[in-house]
Amino acid sequence: MRYFPAFHDLSSRSALLVGGGELALRKLRLLLKAHAKVTLVAPRLSTDMAEQARDSRVLWMCRPFRTEDVRGRALVISASGKPAVDEAVAAAAAEAGVAVNVVDRPDLSSFIMPAVIDRDPLVIGISSGGDAPILARQLRARIEAMLPARLGALARFAGTFRAAVGATIPPAGRRRFWERFFTGPVAEEVLAGRETAAREAMLGLINGPASQAAPAGSVAIVGAGPGDPDLLTFKALRRLQEADVVLYDKLVGPEIVDYARRDAERIYVGKAKANHSKSQDEINALMAEHALAGHRVVRLKGGDPFIFGRGGEEMDYLEARGVTVEVVPGVTAAAGCAAAAGIPLTLRGTALAVTFITGHARDGEPDLDWTSLASGKQTLAVYMGVSTAGVVAKRLIEHGLSAGTPVAVIENGTRDDQRIVTGRLEDLDLRLRQAAVTGPALIIIGEVARKAMTGEDRGLEAELTALPRRLPEALAV
Ligand code: SAH
Repeated sequence: MRYFPAFHDLSSRSALLVGGGELALRKLRLLLKAHAKVTLVAPRLSTDMAEQARDSRVLWMCRPFRTEDVRGRALVISASGKPAVDEAVAAAAAEAGVAVNVVDRPDLSSFIMPAVIDRDPLVIGISSGGDAPILARQLRARIEAMLPARLGALARFAGTFRAAVGATIPPAGRRRFWERFFTGPVAEEVLAGRETAAREAMLGLINGPASQAAPAGSVAIVGAGPGDPDLLTFKALRRLQEADVVLYDKLVGPEIVDYARRDAERIYVGKAKANHSKSQDEINALMAEHALAGHRVVRLKGGDPFIFGRGGEEMDYLEARGVTVEVVPGVTAAAGCAAAAGIPLTLRGTALAVTFITGHARDGEPDLDWTSLASGKQTLAVYMGVSTAGVVAKRLIEHGLSAGTPVAVIENGTRDDQRIVTGRLEDLDLRLRQAAVTGPALIIIGEVARKAMTGEDRGLEAELTALPRRLPEALAV
């Protein structure tokens, strides 16, 4: 982050504004909104500016800028529109150690001003760090349109009840009280402009029995998708933002974990093959412990929790201990990788079924029903299959699947470093080793994998199409 975001308390503090024209006028209005005492230095004022400068909080010095003007100011803004003046103001402020902004000159400024959405006391500032001010303004317009006009009134309303809530509701329940309030019917009343009725209802809420009950903890087992944060569901995002504690796996990237609240506890429980940072038993115990202490726990898993994710075991464990469990589905690796590689997992006439299998093996060879997997016209999506790919390919071929069946390996699917390796079943293992696949990878076996082929494999495609074993399938399409 190039700039530190902060809100500055200027009430009754002294600010210096240099400039008397249109540019300065906007800054003056903003400074007055923030209740600053403004010293305005300009030899001349525009008509509008002169009007605004009549405010009792503005002291107009009708003369050019002098170095000593910056002394003792909480901040300085230069909007003179004259490079020589702006530079002199910036230099004087830098010398005096006072924060300075020169309009449209980030190079001369020690702070920059964001695009602002004002729902006082709720204020949203957007900055692109000076790189794309127009983008910031477009965003502002979109957010403006999303926010109810009376949002400021709602924030003020809540402000007047903060002390009462603090005195009545135990600390552990306060955040949840406010969360329920802001999405509940009393807030709706305020937004609709019926504040008197809302006040009465609010007193009922604060003093009602529900607000005194100890908060009940829970666990949401949440699928985070294959990697691209845009593939999170809205529900996953909501649960993450409500969570007190987040336990996350190796497959979940930092961009996604960062959607959690700033003050949520984040616990890494990733399991790498030989190097388990936490055993499944420890993870189960941690989840139960936090939930039973009244926390809202999110168990964040790659892909979908119920597909090779041990979500089922975790759910059983928690339910047996009386913990409320919710499962939030995610985009599983097969779906995410297939989409990212342009491979339809089923295709009319070509792939009538798709089977998700695991290549994980206890003793070198996965325990799978090879006969059914080798029957054609289906797609196999192999999870955790890189290290056993050779033996999987061999068994499938032995049980009758064509050695020329197209395969595609998607490594780090949907992430920035995604790679796709294609080939045919008989040389799957060789291809994997040549490409040195090390990230999480999904193997897709079946005619549909041909869709991902490019370059040299295209030649292979022509060759395969010419082979007689393609004929029945071609006729079937
Ligand atoms: N519950 C997860 C799967 C966990 S098993 C899901 O539904 O996706 C871990 C395996 O998932 C990895 O070995 C790999 O085969 C696959 N996988 C997960 N994320 C992946 C990604 N971004 N790209 C490719 N494969 C991925």
